[in-house]
Amino acid sequence: MKVGLKGTPIVVSAPSGAGKTTLCKLLAKKYPGEIIYSVSATTRKPRRTEKDSVNYFFLSEQIFKQWTREGKFIEWAKVHNHFYGTPKKILEERLQKGYNSILDIDVQGGMRIKKFYPEGIFIFLLTKTVDILKSRLKGRRTETKESIEKRIKNARKELQYIKEYDYIVINDTIKKTADTIAAILIAEGCLMKRNKQFIKTFKRNL
Ligand code: ADP
Ligand code: 5GP
Repeated sequence: MKVGLKGTPIVVSAPSGAGKTTLCKLLAKKYPGEIIYSVSATTRKPRRTEKDSVNYFFLSEQIFKQWTREGKFIEWAKVHNHFYGTPKKILEERLQKGYNSILDIDVQGGMRIKKFYPEGIFIFLLTKTVDILKSRLKGRRTETKESIEKRIKNARKELQYIKEYDYIVINDTIKKTADTIAAILIAEGCLMKRNKQFIKTFKRNL
């Protein structure tokens, strides 16, 4: 099935461990040619399974700062002590070509994207309970005890932005959640405001 949405940024934010990376990657895989995963740049060190240019563009702090000075990011933020940013040119070109780009970014970045693309789709992902969030974060086995504590503490701040998002999706099972997000995208693609050009062309051909 197709999602039928075109040229739209889809922002997915969530506290660390809620599952946004898993779901964004899965949706990009499920809808090739329609949804493309936006690879961010970061100064964080790669995790064991992460690959440069696939999960992130892993940059030194010096190069990251150079990219910010050169205006290469549409947004960037400091999250959990590291820098993260969305490369501007790749995103713009992708949207112009009619692809949708799914952005797994924090709430600060989400708000910046909303300023540039108010027509974007903004989804906040949560787990059903705080305990599930903690256990998923621990279960990922990528963070030290201190880093887990920092990420949980940050969750409280991130939740302050939840009202700025259009949708709240509870990450129950991965499949159910991916289907829910796909349903949102399909419905968004049917919005009258997103189909003005189509209607215009249809009328012209009548
Ligand atoms: P985030 O990007 O939000 O920090 P991840 O995508 O890394 O979160 O997910 C955190 C951990 O939870 C990972 O180990 C992932 O495999 C697991 N996970 C994600 N979604 C689910 C789910 N629906 N059910 C069980 N485990 C999940
Ligand atoms: P992680 O280190 O777990 O991969 O990501 C930490 C946080 O940084 C997550 O909330 C993630 O969504 C966010 N993040 C990843 N890429 C970007 C980005 O390009 N911009 C912003 N603002 N946040 C990002």
